[in-house]
Amino acid sequence: MSLDCLFCKFVRKEIQPNIAYEDDEVMVFHDIHPQAPIHALVIPKKHIDSVTAIPSGDPIVSTLIDRAVKVAAKLGIAQEGFRLVFNNGHNGGQTVAHLHLHLLGGRAMTWPPG
Ligand code: AMP
Ligand code: ZN
Repeated sequence: MSLDCLFCKFVRKEIQPNIAYEDDEVMVFHDIHPQAPIHALVIPKKHIDSVTAIPSGDPIVSTLIDRAVKVAAKLGIAQEGFRLVFNNGHNGGQTVAHLHLHLLGGRAMTWPPG
C-alpha cells in the first residue's frame, strides 16, 4: 500500500473509479482515456510497482489474467477476442507505477502496437 499511488487510492476508495469488478485481491475499473470501446485496467489490491517488481513465484499474474477473462465475458467481448497488455517501465509506456493489466476489446486490434 503506497500513500501517494493513484491506484492505491482507488483500492482504499479515497477516489472512486468506474469499477467493473472487485474481489479481495483484485479491482477492475474502466480506463479514463479508453483506447478501445472496452478498455479496463485489472490491478492487484496490493501495491506492486510493475511486472519487473513481482516477487519470484508470486501467482498474481495468473490471478490478474483469470479476472481479465471473467470481466471480458461479463462485458461481452470474450467471444470476439480482446487484447491483454502490461506496459513496463519508460520504454514500455508505463505511466502509473502500480501493476496493471490493460483489457482492450470491442474492435479489431492492429499489430505492431505503437
Ligand atoms: P500505463 O500507461 O500502462 O501505465 O496505463 C495507465 C493507465 O491509467 C492509462 O491508460 C490511463 O489512461 C489510466 N488512468 C490514469 N488515470 C486514471 C484514472 N483517474 N482513472 C482511470 N484510469 C486512469
Ligand atoms: Zn499502488
